[in-house]
Amino acid sequence: MRAELARLAREGQRPSQLFLTCADSRLVTSMITASGPGDLFVVRNVGNLVPLPGAESGDDSVAAAIEYAVEVLQVRSITVCGHSGCGAMQALLRSEPGEEAAGETQTPLRRWLRHGVPSLERMADDSRPWARLAGRHPTDAVELLCLTNVVQQLEHLRAHESVARALEAGVLELHGMYFHVGEAQAYLLTEAKEGQVFDQVREEDDVPA
Ligand SMILES: [Zn+2]
Repeated sequence: MRAELARLAREGQRPSQLFLTCADSRLVTSMITASGPGDLFVVRNVGNLVPLPGAESGDDSVAAAIEYAVEVLQVRSITVCGHSGCGAMQALLRSEPGEEAAGETQTPLRRWLRHGVPSLERMADDSRPWARLAGRHPTDAVELLCLTNVVQQLEHLRAHESVARALEAGVLELHGMYFHVGEAQAYLLTEAKEGQVFDQVREEDDVPA
């Protein structure tokens, strides 16, 4: 590892992937993606949320990391990774409708979680087929929201100018992932005709890079 880090210090970082996931302590990105130093540019926050550009959130850090990864590092893919038992999704489910409009009485955590409200709305939208895991439906509302949130945050990513431009040029791919903590199993989002399905990543499969 020492030699590898010395090489990376000399040559600089050239990660091929931006990996955006939750701050949850049970997620170990190097384990999930079988990656080492220099492989992933990582953004972690509560609920793996991507604020829409221009959202009055007072937080530019996610957008800045996206811009830097796409424009400067020229990553080839961005993965949004949600996970089972996400506390942020549980909190969102418990929130009252309209609560986000309550203004100054909000704590930073509640203000931040507003970026997940579109995921709640997406889940409640009957015209959209439910996201599901390979071979089964989500076990409960929390799991359904965890999956739906990945799909929704990918949509928020596409709204970022640098991402839209790179997608248009065909130099960037977006991926959705779900990590089931109890199963120690990663699932990759595939767009099936009947909705969004997260397929199991098997050991022999390559995690997108
Ligand atoms: Zn989480």
